[in-house]
Amino acid sequence: MNHQHPPYRDVTVGALLTRLAEALPDNEALVYADRNLRLTFAELEAEARLIARGLMACGVEQGERVALWATNVPEWIVLQFALAKIGAILVTVNTSLRAHEMDYLLRQSESATVIIIRGFRDVDYVGALREIGAVGDKKLPNLKRAIFISRSDDDDCPDELTPYEKLRELAAGVSEEQLNAREREVGLDDVINMQYTSGTTGFPKGVMLSSRNILNNGYWLGRGLGYTPQDRLCLCVPLFHCFGCVIGVLGAYTHGACLAPIESFDARKVLETVEGERCTSLYGVPTMFLAEMEDPEFKRFNLSSLRTGVMAGALCPEALMRRAIDEMNLGEITIIYGLTEASPGITQTPRDDTIEHRTQTVGVVLPEMEVRIVDPATRETLGANEHGELIVRGYNVMKGYYNNPDATRAAIDDEGWLRTGDQAAMDSDGYVRITGRIKDIIIRGGENISPKEIEDLMRRHPSVSDVYVYAVKSEFFGEEVAAAVKLKAGAKATEEELREFCQGRVARFKIPKYVRFVGEFPMTASGKIQKFKLRESHEKELAKSIAEA
Ligand code: AMP
Repeated sequence: MNHQHPPYRDVTVGALLTRLAEALPDNEALVYADRNLRLTFAELEAEARLIARGLMACGVEQGERVALWATNVPEWIVLQFALAKIGAILVTVNTSLRAHEMDYLLRQSESATVIIIRGFRDVDYVGALREIGAVGDKKLPNLKRAIFISRSDDDDCPDELTPYEKLRELAAGVSEEQLNAREREVGLDDVINMQYTSGTTGFPKGVMLSSRNILNNGYWLGRGLGYTPQDRLCLCVPLFHCFGCVIGVLGAYTHGACLAPIESFDARKVLETVEGERCTSLYGVPTMFLAEMEDPEFKRFNLSSLRTGVMAGALCPEALMRRAIDEMNLGEITIIYGLTEASPGITQTPRDDTIEHRTQTVGVVLPEMEVRIVDPATRETLGANEHGELIVRGYNVMKGYYNNPDATRAAIDDEGWLRTGDQAAMDSDGYVRITGRIKDIIIRGGENISPKEIEDLMRRHPSVSDVYVYAVKSEFFGEEVAAAVKLKAGAKATEEELREFCQGRVARFKIPKYVRFVGEFPMTASGKIQKFKLRESHEKELAKSIAEA
């Protein structure tokens, strides 16, 4: 096989790396300068094949779910390709989850394998897994194996887990030919990636994505960034999200560009990596760019290598985009709008467009997909500049939610249109603006939070009669979580007590920053809660207290 040079599309995620190893064997593919790790495409392919054979030797089957709970460690990227090669489904796990949330994810995904690091920030993954139940335990009937990735020489594998390094030895039990045979069985439309998101409502659901979905989406987005094998992307957004594993890994690799990942976001490390590795591209949610520019030593870093990048995940303020262009040398930065269920990109700003289009809109619809703006009630298509729900159809629409046909039917109609739950308007030139949100989710610094999940939790507090969770505007995070609580007659509870009740039960970013006690909730005549009223009165109060201070 002698493949032409990248860009590549319409190949499986597993085959993508093989092509790169043939076309650009000696090009740098993956760099972690702080670990002294530099892999070429040929080396990364060899490593992914070795780990793929090790996983096959352990008995990992095609179509089986493998949950990966880790920060952006090098093994994450190796596993993304190794699992794709053997047709297993990589279930990505948010690094901030707590035991209780991970328990739900492992059960709902019916994962047969879980792969973890020791922990992240204040969450102990090993302890959480012990709490949830071990392999062979009746509590998790599907779980067959648990693998541990150690991050340093003194980070020993706990007895009940299998060391990741053991996969290298086990690989001897599976031949290269056996791996090739397995790879040939994996199709473009097979699900290989699953990510949990709350969608438009309720509890997290597993979004099923195929190679066709994510590889082609990465291809178009990478093309929008003008990637070539000379580009080097500093990847500081999480790999567990599409922003990292699709727009990042596949966006870069479909065009032969190199990745320099950051294990977990740290503004200073980003600046050091961009300077040290002469990165040409940088991604982030708005808060990340803000944190980098506000680093007290920001001015000392040489960012002249930067050219392009992506801001996405939440509303991107115009002023921040302009600052990123001027102060970070990101002259060709683009905004992407999308959602996990759409693989994720739907629109992107053209990098050579006017500054107004590039900072005040989310750009134009990507090739090979259709977008309509519809009246959310009647689903009739609206005219230019009218506000309605954005719906999308094309190769990029997910295969559905795992084991949840009702939610899938609610999200995708019979003609294949996916509802985004986002309110948008399109002008006569095709530029899209996101104007609001129809779905009941909160986006805090790019992290999606389902109000229902927090409401269900807080309702379990003995003093709480009822509670509604909503968003209030925040200068830094875009939105913050707020809860309006009605206490039971005669019951007492403080803000602090209620927040403490949430501690350890849900990821920290989901815990309400504000808890307000109310006598009654604002309701419509038909008894529907009016969260926008809670938000309006709360924001007025906050504005007043800022003015007084
Ligand atoms: P997720 O599925 O986690 O990627 O979250 C997707 C949601 O984030 C979308 O449905 C939007 O509500 C929001 N979002 C993503 N990108 C943008 C953007 N560029 N501007 C405004 N909102 C965005």
